Amino acid sequence: MTAEEPRECPPLVRDMDADVVVVGGGFTGMWTAYFLSVANPDLGIVVLEQDICGGGPSGRNGGFASGWWDELHGLITLYGAEPAVRACRAISSSIDGIGEFCEHNGIDAWYRKSGYMYAITAGAHEPLCREMVDLAREVGAPDELRELTAAEVGSRCASPAFRGGALMRDGASVQPARLARGLRRVLLGRGIAIHEGTPVTRLDGTTAITPNGLVRARNAVLAVNAWSTAWPRLSSRVVAWSSYIVLTAPEPEKLRSISWTGGELISDFRSSLRYFRTTVDGRIAFGGGGGRARRSIDSTFTHDERAVRETAEGFRLMFPSFLDVPIEDAWGGPIDVSPTHLPTFGRLGDDNVFYAMGYTGNGVAPSHLAGQVLADLITGSDTDNVRLPMVNARPRPFPPEPIRSWGAAVVRRAMIAKETAEEQGRRPNYLIDQVARTPRRLGYLLGP
Ligand SMILES: Cc1cc2nc3c(=O)[nH]c(=O)nc-3n(C[C@H](O)[C@H](O)[C@H](O)COP(=O)(O)OP(=O)(O)OC[C@H]3O[C@@H](n4cnc5c(N)ncnc54)[C@H](O)[C@@H]3O)c2cc1C
Repeated sequence: MTAEEPRECPPLVRDMDADVVVVGGGFTGMWTAYFLSVANPDLGIVVLEQDICGGGPSGRNGGFASGWWDELHGLITLYGAEPAVRACRAISSSIDGIGEFCEHNGIDAWYRKSGYMYAITAGAHEPLCREMVDLAREVGAPDELRELTAAEVGSRCASPAFRGGALMRDGASVQPARLARGLRRVLLGRGIAIHEGTPVTRLDGTTAITPNGLVRARNAVLAVNAWSTAWPRLSSRVVAWSSYIVLTAPEPEKLRSISWTGGELISDFRSSLRYFRTTVDGRIAFGGGGGRARRSIDSTFTHDERAVRETAEGFRLMFPSFLDVPIEDAWGGPIDVSPTHLPTFGRLGDDNVFYAMGYTGNGVAPSHLAGQVLADLITGSDTDNVRLPMVNARPRPFPPEPIRSWGAAVVRRAMIAKETAEEQGRRPNYLIDQVARTPRRLGYLLGP
């Protein structure tokens, strides 16, 4: 058995007592369990995961651990400038914290801090880029985001699609499955009980009910990400959209020929974001492009040929010199889109039920922070973390079903169609343009 090999975590088949039961063994659930056990090693902590730990998006995301300086507009709109900057600094600490955790625990998660480059791919995105950079300067953080000329973008990654962009200093890549499985090993080493293959069918207060046993706990944590759509107390706060990634064969020579050797994370400015990075063995992992919205988490989130095809089309558009490079793998998963494009962490009413949700496809670094916040809330610690603005922030619900998921599906397709037209230098169809803008008009911080 190697250091990263799994130790068996059998399904729960009995009743047990605990201080904290965590529902969901992704990054949020595992970081929460970890920080709880650091705060108090005597706590009885049980993690219940329906699949395997990291089997959800935590183990198969794009591996962008990225800062929040590009989220300043939304953060300031919601919370004001000073709390927004505190939130950004907290995420920055988490990016470093993940690297330190891997180092300290001997987890080879291919962590590399190389920054995050935004690339402009349509004229409509030029003002967005400028506003983003200006905002960082206005809040006194000019070093966090700086504008790049087209030549500067090209010197980091040359693509005929890129017209200029910006560089965010905060950005690290990780191999997410390696991080998830390493985290699981650390939890087991700390004596935390993990039961995989154990779906929680409901919470009765803070008692987690599963098909073959229950956990009576003093506190419960719902760390279920897009599966929040199935939990009545959370469902109005998220819609589930899918995101897909395609992975090329290794081509380190070709990467050198386009100057992409610095390991930068890169994305465009679309609302239906395309995000891409290199891997340590010289591949490109390219995400986004397609995707659907659905009411519940089904196979559309993992087996959707149209989404894979659209993602691959985006890849070929940006990297025409890789036309002959085979795509060797593709996969997808659900993302939990919140009305504000940002997550919230907190406690449900006066109950000892805690949650973190709404990452909107950006949860690798924020889930590390969420784990600390939830651990502090549960242990009653009065820390800077619990005073962050997204802690117990008042929820802004989506409309009720079936309008919620139907509306999300229609708007998602309209955004993709609008942004594809803009990218191709065409004027988007008037109706599609109006539909894509609907969320903002209704006060949600989503879409163009
Ligand atoms: C294709 C894709 C690419 C992405 N790329 C990035 C990226 O590059 N950077 C970034 O920051 N974010 C990215 N994300 C988002 C990121 O993966 C998530 O925000 C993050 O993993 C959230 O962690 P989590 O623990 O909250 O959720 P999850 O990893 O989804 O964990 C929730 C867990 O709860 C379990 N669960 C659900 N219901 C139950 C139940 N009833 N009982 C027991 N267990 C249950 C699930 O099986 C799952 O394992 C991406 C997502 C996808 C799908």
